[in-house]
Amino acid sequence: MEKRYCLECGELLHGRADQKFCSDVCRTAYHNKLHAEENSVIRHVNSILRKNRNILEKLNPNGKTKVTKEKLIREGFNFSYFTNIYTTKTGSTYYYCYDQGYLPLEEDKYILVRKKEYIDG
Ligand SMILES: [Zn+2]
Repeated sequence: MEKRYCLECGELLHGRADQKFCSDVCRTAYHNKLHAEENSVIRHVNSILRKNRNILEKLNPNGKTKVTKEKLIREGFNFSYFTNIYTTKTGSTYYYCYDQGYLPLEEDKYILVRKKEYIDG
């Protein structure tokens, strides 16, 4: 029979085949750590998305404008993170951070939009 060890402290287990922890203390410690890591990943991504959204909103107070990539980068925009993508019938792909979106154009320019516009089509 295969030897099993506590996932938290590594102690050899003697209980049922589905036993994963030597004690409730180890079970709780293990799950707390796991959730703490998950939460910190989620918090990190959320903070990037929120920052992206705030940058787009700040640069686009009137609902539609054009900016350079340089300007977005200078504000600290992170192009790797967005909440959703919308592709129009004509093949333009908008990237959204919540309600604020952008459409990449040629020559490192971007059109900034608010979500309302893509709902309207
Ligand atoms: Zn243990």
